[in-house]
Amino acid sequence: MHILIANDDGYLAPGIAALVAACDGLGTIDVVAPEQNASGTSNALTLGRPLSVFENPAGWRVVNGTPSDCVHVALTGLLPKRPDLVLSGINNGANMGDDTLYSGTVAAAMEGYLFGIPSIAFSLVDKGWAHLDAAARTARAVIDDLLGGGLPDGPWLLNVNIPNRADAPTLARHVTRLGRRHASEPVIRQDSPRGDPLYWIGPAGDAKEAGEGTDFFAAAQGKVSITPLQVDLTDHARLGSWAGRLARSRS
Ligand code: MN
Repeated sequence: MHILIANDDGYLAPGIAALVAACDGLGTIDVVAPEQNASGTSNALTLGRPLSVFENPAGWRVVNGTPSDCVHVALTGLLPKRPDLVLSGINNGANMGDDTLYSGTVAAAMEGYLFGIPSIAFSLVDKGWAHLDAAARTARAVIDDLLGGGLPDGPWLLNVNIPNRADAPTLARHVTRLGRRHASEPVIRQDSPRGDPLYWIGPAGDAKEAGEGTDFFAAAQGKVSITPLQVDLTDHARLGSWAGRLARSRS
């Protein structure tokens, strides 16, 4: 098997080293990761400048771009052949509910999915690397489970959130849907030392839809949350009503 591993926290983050180590023995592993922390960059691709790639002593390719750049460049130029699986993470912090739209961790996996390759994003529910090794063993167990039944035909995309706990590998794994969040907290204004206003994006809003069956619910219950994702953003439920409204406005 041939696995491509990326992340959004940057190639120096402990999370990607733990994920790479956890995949030992699964086959050929290529790592292509951003030079800088690129959390919150979503699916951005760098179009206005070229990307440079250097190799670190471990043979990982490091790209001065976004998580999507890394997977895109890997799949279209760096790798000798198409990988069987794309993994992203392990991210420092949860990617649940609406966060998945902003997440570079999810985006790196999504880039693999968009290229038709089975892809999985892994995140720690709570920030900090306290139980990263346990999370990495959990990620490996999820992968082993998938491989055990024969890797399902792709493309598919899984978003996995793992509680930051020593006993993570023993926790139940629940297949969930995305919850929803309230709108973000307001921006935080500060004055620069030169007196100019500065704005920090505020924290994410609290969970709004966190009922049973959601990723938020599973995580709050101390479960590993596994959400199958897709990319179609079409509002299917409103297709008919919009078509009717626009038809009436023309008549
Ligand atoms: Mn991140």
